[in-house]
Amino acid sequence: MSVLLTNIGELVTHDPAHGDGPGIVPDAAIVVQAGRIAWTGPAASAPAADSAVDLGGRCVIPGFVDSHSHTVFAGDRAAEFAARMTGEPYTGGGIATTVAATRTASEDTLRARGQALVREMLAQGTTTVEIKSGYGQDVATEARMLRIARELTPETTYLGAHTVPAEYADDRAGYLRLVTGPMLAACAPHARWVDVFCEPAAPTAFDEDESRAVLRAGLRAGLLARVHGNQLSAGPGVRLAVEVGAASVDHCTHLTDADVDALAGSDTVATLLPAVEFSTRSPYPDARRLLAAGAPVALATDCNPGSGYSSSMPFVVALAVREMRMSPAEALWSATAGGAAALRRDDVGHLRVGARADLTVLDAPSHTYLAYRPGVPLVSEVWKDGTRV
Ligand SMILES: [Zn+2]
Repeated sequence: MSVLLTNIGELVTHDPAHGDGPGIVPDAAIVVQAGRIAWTGPAASAPAADSAVDLGGRCVIPGFVDSHSHTVFAGDRAAEFAARMTGEPYTGGGIATTVAATRTASEDTLRARGQALVREMLAQGTTTVEIKSGYGQDVATEARMLRIARELTPETTYLGAHTVPAEYADDRAGYLRLVTGPMLAACAPHARWVDVFCEPAAPTAFDEDESRAVLRAGLRAGLLARVHGNQLSAGPGVRLAVEVGAASVDHCTHLTDADVDALAGSDTVATLLPAVEFSTRSPYPDARRLLAAGAPVALATDCNPGSGYSSSMPFVVALAVREMRMSPAEALWSATAGGAAALRRDDVGHLRVGARADLTVLDAPSHTYLAYRPGVPLVSEVWKDGTRV
């Protein structure tokens, strides 16, 4: 059965056949068949289909690809947020609170929270999401987090090396052996990716050599690499991500010229997470410097209970435009096709023929409204694999 979606006021395809950049088709239509995009173009020349849906002049964009989230956890840190907003500096601390709550939570509690957050993301137009472990920091809890995450998405990331837990504070080497040994063995069957919080400036995060050991062990176990890097200082994260061929290095708030050059010369995506800078009242990454150098840029939420608890890609797009001076079209590309590149996926993030029919309908005449009307619930319907959800 084919479905014609017609009377689309503005269709953003990211299809070069429809022009550079966003590949916009005005007064457009889409034909969906077997969960995939079968045709896009002007509504006036659309082929016949088995059924038709009139979208009333609304805008259609590819479903958002949120390539960085931590949405399986227990507890909350609202008090920590309130304290930070009233003057306490962000130190990277506080995660131990979430680790303690996650270790003692039941599987049902963790699953219910994860399901609720993924539903919340879907309602805001996100059709692909990556989810990390990292709040267990013991073998059983890390594996439990990833089993639950795997029920929610194929894009699961083993982040045993999120921080060094308190019980290993005097034995970092022992924790490294656990993360690269028994914990990796228990988690790898449930994960596609391995990640590490590479940040020598944070005492509980990992330095360059430690991070390299974590990533190399994950690669040997058949996982693909991604890195949390350069969030708090211009550390070795970008250099290491490029060295190991990581799909993405995430945060990129503090970069040297050499880091920018390395990203521009590689296919490692720079994933910016401006909701974290918003929620920690920190300086934003310099997106324009990366774009000017030709580096691929993605945008993601980093939805997590500590440094930024927003699940909203429209909010991230608005921040990218207002605070990082990306154009609305650049921000939308980074929040869809950029996220897909950061996950090494070519079936999402665009609406070219053959793509998954994952699309978001905005109650707006154009994609610019995502930033022009910040905080307004513009997502009016979402289609995933060709079905309205
Ligand atoms: Zn993160």
